[in-house]
Amino acid sequence: MTTGLAADAPGDAGPGRASPDGRGRFVPGADRSRPPAPGDLALPVAGRKLLTGPDGGLPRIGELPADLDWVPVGTLDGIPAWTAEVADPEALAGRWRGWRSLATELPQPLADLAGRALAVVTWRRTHRWCGACRTELADVPGETARRCPGCGLTVFVPLSVAVLVAITRPGRAGRPDELLLVRHAYGPTELWALVAGFVEAGESLEAAAHREVGEEVGLTIGRPGYVDSQPWAMSGPGTLLAGFTATVTDPDAEPVVDPKELTEARWFPVDALPAELPPAYSISRWLIDAVAARPRG
Ligand SMILES: [Zn+2]
Repeated sequence: MTTGLAADAPGDAGPGRASPDGRGRFVPGADRSRPPAPGDLALPVAGRKLLTGPDGGLPRIGELPADLDWVPVGTLDGIPAWTAEVADPEALAGRWRGWRSLATELPQPLADLAGRALAVVTWRRTHRWCGACRTELADVPGETARRCPGCGLTVFVPLSVAVLVAITRPGRAGRPDELLLVRHAYGPTELWALVAGFVEAGESLEAAAHREVGEEVGLTIGRPGYVDSQPWAMSGPGTLLAGFTATVTDPDAEPVVDPKELTEARWFPVDALPAELPPAYSISRWLIDAVAARPRG
């Protein structure tokens, strides 16, 4: 199973990753020990969109109607952040934007916070009743969880995990290494992206990487090496991407694409990658850039 999550719309260089000095740090949480204050960060959600202010940044609680039902989602730089589902988005001033647009322009901690707000609001809307006994669920104080007063079932925000694999092979006769890039059969089909897919229940990340590579391009790889991860709100709320690099076991093997998932798979020398790469804010691009930046040898 693939996802369309390896690729996204093309984008120019975005603001990039979290600042190494620790500023702009997002910590997820569910603290209701005090009510929202006017200076707290506000993330109203309508459908799959979030409200931003005229400057493109997040509004504050004090700028929004007092009757919204705020739910805590954590802190950014120590400032509490709250989300609320908005029934009538046109009643609020500002710009409603999808996660991709936010992730393109905002620093990564803000994009992560926005992704969490989308996940929490969607989860609350779709987990109102106990799946076992149909009683209405109640919030668990201090946690992002709901519990059934009837049978005690506790429900958490579901998290789907997917792997991406940057597959390389050694270059021939002193030439640069080559990176395997693929084009998906759906989504942004013009992009050259990475093999990717969701981890199945009962499967390790590494096993999923081996399986997806086999299914999508018919290759076998050596042990996948973990590189990085990214919360990803484009493939539905609650997706976590885990990025790996791996070397193909047979450098002479050519990819054989699964036509249900891919239209094309091709080896590119790392010093001659195509222009149509995933956007700068995506882990796909971080992995591709990391492979391209490896010292030659
Ligand atoms: Zn129940």
